[in-house]
Amino acid sequence: MANILILGGGFGGVIAAETLAKELGHEHQITLVSRSPKFIFYPELVRLAFGKCEPEDISFDLREAMLDRRVRFIQAEVARIKPESRRVILPHGEVDGELPYDYLILALGRRLATERVTGFFEHSHHLLTVEGALKFGHALRNFHEGRAVIGQCPGARLPVPVYETAFALARLFAPGGLGERVRITIVSPDPPGLQFDDLNMARALRTALDEHYIEYLPDFPIDTVTSEAVSTSNGHVINYSLLMLLPPFRGPGAVTGLGITDNEGYVNVHRTMRVQGVERMYAVGDCVNFSGPKLGHMAAHQAKVAAANVALEIKGLEPLQFYDHEIMLTIDEGGQESIYLHKGLWDDEPAIVRQGRFWTWAKRVHEKYWLAKHS
Ligand SMILES: Cc1cc2nc3c(=O)[nH]c(=O)nc-3n(C[C@H](O)[C@H](O)[C@H](O)COP(=O)(O)OP(=O)(O)OC[C@H]3O[C@@H](n4cnc5c(N)ncnc54)[C@H](O)[C@@H]3O)c2cc1C
Repeated sequence: MANILILGGGFGGVIAAETLAKELGHEHQITLVSRSPKFIFYPELVRLAFGKCEPEDISFDLREAMLDRRVRFIQAEVARIKPESRRVILPHGEVDGELPYDYLILALGRRLATERVTGFFEHSHHLLTVEGALKFGHALRNFHEGRAVIGQCPGARLPVPVYETAFALARLFAPGGLGERVRITIVSPDPPGLQFDDLNMARALRTALDEHYIEYLPDFPIDTVTSEAVSTSNGHVINYSLLMLLPPFRGPGAVTGLGITDNEGYVNVHRTMRVQGVERMYAVGDCVNFSGPKLGHMAAHQAKVAAANVALEIKGLEPLQFYDHEIMLTIDEGGQESIYLHKGLWDDEPAIVRQGRFWTWAKRVHEKYWLAKHS
């Protein structure tokens, strides 16, 4: 019997556990370890901040969901991994001490490196946890005039909630408020021009932003936040009345010092999702070193590839499933300017860009289906 340990209860960990349970049946032990007993559907956090749903609508209990799939769930913090003895150190939680494994799947997401932007922790709202979204929602309700600055710090790699927040804010104040009482500015560290590296996508976004009188300020790599302004290292400053920023991301703390990460702490993997230079260890989701934005659908796809390859290895075969890196996302504008993008990141094929109200509906339906299927 093989003992498979999955670390992290987000999109990557849940899909890996579910796929392995289906592939392997009862014969093997599958264990999911995560610090929180809940799965959070992050793409809904913008709607949570704007009061369109409640925390219980966008989460489910991991232990119950895993029990249904005959996967053991342990709520615990992962402190360190010892690949040489195939053990994971859990300093506190339901199990203290060392947990052995035969195969390991890392799905620990990314760390919020707020310390890289002076004043971020004290002054900025973010949308990366339920608590953060609720706090931002409270600030939104008290915001009646002035400049709202919404954006990404260098290294944030998550543009979707930035645009969705700006569009939702614009809808809140239209018609009448925008331009008169309220000004909305998106700041981005990227150079001007090609958002998502695609001309059609950049054009679609530009039209949608113009439609809502949203300013777009590229080349604005924020390094300091005060109680009234954000500034960059090259001396640009803008004042704000409401601020929501995504902080820099880095790889998860539990894998540092193992020699398996790049210089931002992301785990180096092959296209099979196997960790480079280590046997029987795979990694999926936001914690891996692939280029481009970090998205839930990528985590899910990578988890399926990793799970299939672990199952092959257990059967004594070579891992032969390969991941193909692509972006598939919808930016929900709330109406006919919603944008769908599908683009390969490892090929030269042109991107598919579609626009219309249908994509708002499709995103909502997909989210409801996902939560119902897995909870
Ligand atoms: C506001 C917002 C909107 C988004 N919108 C979209 C969208 O529209 N489309 C899209 O595709 N993606 C979207 N994303 C991105 C998507 O949510 C992430 O890419 C996805 O969650 C990554 O999944 P993951 O499993 O790799 O990591 P995570 O979901 O971050 O899961 C990591 C898990 O590991 C656990 N963990 C971490 N460290 C430890 C430790 N030391 N010990 C124990 N447990 C630990 C965490 O508690 C968590 O359960 C959005 C994200 C946010 C925040």
